[in-house]
Amino acid sequence: MPELPEVNTLAVALARQLHNDSISSWQRLSPKLRKLIPDAAEAASVTCRKIKSVKRVAKNIFIDFGGQHLLKIHLGMTGYFCLTRQQPEAFKHAHLQLLLASGRTLTFCDPRRFGSIEVTSLPAARVVEPFAGELTPAYLKVACGGRECSIKALIMDQQVIAGLGNIYAAESLFKAGIRPDRPAGSLKPGEIKKLCAACIAVIEAAVKAGIDSLGERPEINDQTTHFDIETLVYDQHDELCPKCRKSRIKMVRISGRSSCFCPNCQK
Ligand SMILES: [Zn+2]
Repeated sequence: MPELPEVNTLAVALARQLHNDSISSWQRLSPKLRKLIPDAAEAASVTCRKIKSVKRVAKNIFIDFGGQHLLKIHLGMTGYFCLTRQQPEAFKHAHLQLLLASGRTLTFCDPRRFGSIEVTSLPAARVVEPFAGELTPAYLKVACGGRECSIKALIMDQQVIAGLGNIYAAESLFKAGIRPDRPAGSLKPGEIKKLCAACIAVIEAAVKAGIDSLGERPEINDQTTHFDIETLVYDQHDELCPKCRKSRIKMVRISGRSSCFCPNCQK
């Protein structure tokens, strides 16, 4: 499932390719996603208007046409775009095809159909994102206060921190030296401070790696969100811990998700 840095990478790629282009024809192919895709009439306010910018908010991509309405895309688990020079024959799992004024075609595909495409306005209020200046120890301290749920479940709660998923939550807890199954309310102020800094460092490094993987005119396809990131604990079950080289990485299940950690480095 694409996490914040992956969604951000796609937003930047779309921005580089689509700036000043416009949607000349909205062709709904297979409307059933998590929410029904709007038809051409419902999407009239975002067609034939120049694309001003593409932004990411949490794990959503917003295509901004400078008007009241934006196109909001959520990739769900398996959503992706394909940008092609001409209108393609047919893509497997294609749900929406947008013919652009430049003659190119932008197709949205989603095999598992957990994604969504909506015509909407920008959210007035948004959840704190894991970036410097937004996620602060004071904020995280309040969020953790008295909570019995595990710290990993808490930092992955999209209403607490927007965009932190399984991979980056595991890496952040490893960097901060905190066990993922600790009750959130048991964290001491020093640990909260370390965790905050770790979340920000991990996400900012991944966001940078994603952007660095793109060229000036990036290809947009199912591989755009796939870039190399170094993971130290995520998916490293039974491997030797890269930090202490004493313990093997353990795995527990937290909220139904596999969670790897080093029992020696993380307390
Ligand atoms: Zn270790």
